[in-house]
Amino acid sequence: MDGLKRLPIAAPERISGITSLAFNMWWSWHPDARMLFKRLSRAEWKLSGHNPVKMLNEIDRKALDEASGDQDFLAHYDRVMERFHDEVGNGGGKWFAHNICAPEAMPIAFFSAEYGLHRSLPFYAGGLGFLAGDFLKEGSDLGLPLTAVGFMYPEGYMRQKMSAGGWQENLDEPLDRAGTAISKVMDAKGRPLLVKVPVIEPPIYVEVWKIEVGKVPLYLIDTDIEANDPWNRRISAHLYTGNVEQRLRQEIVLGIGGSAVLVAMGLRHPVLHLNEGHPAFAVMERIREGVSAGMRFTEALQNVKETTVFTTHTPVAAGTDVFPFDLMEKYFSPYWPALGLDRESFFALGTDPADPQAGFNMTVFALKCSSHRNGVSKRHGEVARRMWHSLWPGRPEDEVPIGSVTNGIHVPTWIEPKIALLFNRHLGGDWINRHDKPETWEAVRKIPDIELWNTHYWQKMKLVMRIMDRARERWTEGGPDAQVVLAEGVFLDPNALTLGFARRFATYKRASLILSDTERLKRILNNKWMPVQIVFAGKAHPADDAGKHMLQQVFNAAQDPAFGGRIAFVQEYDEQFAQYMVHGVDLWLNTPLPPLEASGTSGMKAALNGVPNLSVLDGWWLEGYNGKNGWAFGGKEEGKSVQQRDAEDAAALYDLLENQIIPLFYHLNGDGISKGWVQIMKEAMISAGSGFSARRMVKEYATRFYEKCLLAVAG
Ligand SMILES: *Cc1c(COP(=O)(O)O)cnc(C)c1O
Repeated sequence: MDGLKRLPIAAPERISGITSLAFNMWWSWHPDARMLFKRLSRAEWKLSGHNPVKMLNEIDRKALDEASGDQDFLAHYDRVMERFHDEVGNGGGKWFAHNICAPEAMPIAFFSAEYGLHRSLPFYAGGLGFLAGDFLKEGSDLGLPLTAVGFMYPEGYMRQKMSAGGWQENLDEPLDRAGTAISKVMDAKGRPLLVKVPVIEPPIYVEVWKIEVGKVPLYLIDTDIEANDPWNRRISAHLYTGNVEQRLRQEIVLGIGGSAVLVAMGLRHPVLHLNEGHPAFAVMERIREGVSAGMRFTEALQNVKETTVFTTHTPVAAGTDVFPFDLMEKYFSPYWPALGLDRESFFALGTDPADPQAGFNMTVFALKCSSHRNGVSKRHGEVARRMWHSLWPGRPEDEVPIGSVTNGIHVPTWIEPKIALLFNRHLGGDWINRHDKPETWEAVRKIPDIELWNTHYWQKMKLVMRIMDRARERWTEGGPDAQVVLAEGVFLDPNALTLGFARRFATYKRASLILSDTERLKRILNNKWMPVQIVFAGKAHPADDAGKHMLQQVFNAAQDPAFGGRIAFVQEYDEQFAQYMVHGVDLWLNTPLPPLEASGTSGMKAALNGVPNLSVLDGWWLEGYNGKNGWAFGGKEEGKSVQQRDAEDAAALYDLLENQIIPLFYHLNGDGISKGWVQIMKEAMISAGSGFSARRMVKEYATRFYEKCLLAVAG
């Protein structure tokens, strides 16, 4: 690899570093850096959707010239740039070097089909992507030697557009490559690096883009290039295409192509971490490299196993990719000889003994080819051991070798800046450096109640204002009819107890559970003296009609005057609106059908900011709930029909709201605050901050898995 190509941004010499700052997502988790861009031009910052690359492309040169002569701006600029160089240059996080090994000794390749890093990088669908994005950011903070690989989806976002009937329509919004913080990887001759996906026939070519995530490089594979025929160009058009053959081709390109890209760039990657089964073919390519270097298959497999970490995120068999054998044969028939295998032994690698005819199962394959395997919460670990017991038939279920590392969130990304200032004052200015130590959080109890209450009230105002602003924009554009605009929350009241529900509209998440008994819900929401409102947001997968029906039910409720305008559905859920939601609502509602929420992470984001959870006992909440940091219900699944479980969970939800939550929230003292509520807010912050950070999570992966890989790498 020789260099990168990016659009030149003509910044004056004195502030020329602003370009490299804009191209490194480091700025996104440093409020001081965000403010620097905002300060250049508030209007351009907003118009660009908080995307500094786009903003610098479009901003008037005059604004940059003025800034480069403004002493206040320059002092701010110098401060940010100094920190940027400290943290991203050779300095920066040393935790890995001090606790595991010299980073050069063990580069780790991290593969994921999606990454949720920022609104301006539309390469995610939901939780899996944010987990990967948060992992890279924390990896940078701790100095992990990560190199990440993913996909460039040129059609980026699926835009969500609701019809008056409440049906979700989808529009593609092509990615503006020039206005995105991605740089094309060039070869030694200054041409775009072109890599052929090895062995696979018919041939597929890829080019590569780079995103800098602090110290961690993320390489995105792009198939939408001249060298490919149209069918190949479309491989990476969309995240999670419904077409099974195109999906197989995506996974071939991600795993096998991704590995070849690392080789082409001269990047060694002795340790491999697979985030879910989608990129598992990367393991196959590593085995092939071993075989072509002269190893026998079994030896190469053993080597690869000892240096591969596989994280499964799916608690249902239907959620794993299984490819028909004949389809596999079409692409892989030149591949198995390259591994020294025949057809049968090759397919055996991905065959689930419990369902041998089904096809090539990516999770089975990944489990068989890795020695370090985990689910993403304690409960999910148990579920995974039960699901994949058939692979270890001789062992009792609880000895199936799949452990768990509970998910966590990147604290600097998800903390609201005013809450962070509150922590600076009461936890000490360096709390962020100590945030995975439980002692750090004890001081939250000393924050004066009124300060926390008022800070949160300000967040809620911001959320409500943001929602109104969006509704106003939509209304003045004159596009949709008024009914659709009204459903977007124009009647919201910042003084009312506000519940938030925002995530993908997958049916198991049961967005409409709280609508089960409409009469009871109307009484709750419309109580004149203790009103309650609910803000919903989220997209259904374009191919998921059941999810769209659930969304329609919610949307119709939001349009129904009988609910008093106290239900809002906000369109176009994305990372930016997620920030408003997890900072601004009063209570985070989570109603999955157990055990289908492997972990869930948005509830952690909310809790960190003092928003308690009201959640079914599933996923992370089984570990997170401690009796004083929120509310828990349901979670029992034995021997009951889904209808019965829905009915019981809904009743428990209403009971909690009516008997405990609403009276507590409205039990105001002379200062107009609810002391009891503030206690729960504080406990939510303490438990989420100390236990559910990405820092805790990444350290666990490093000490429990990566460190073990070291022996195999060294040996
Ligand atoms: C955190 C996050 C998610 C994941 O939410 P879950 O609680 O795991 O469902 C999805 N989308 C966005 C935009 C997020 O920020």
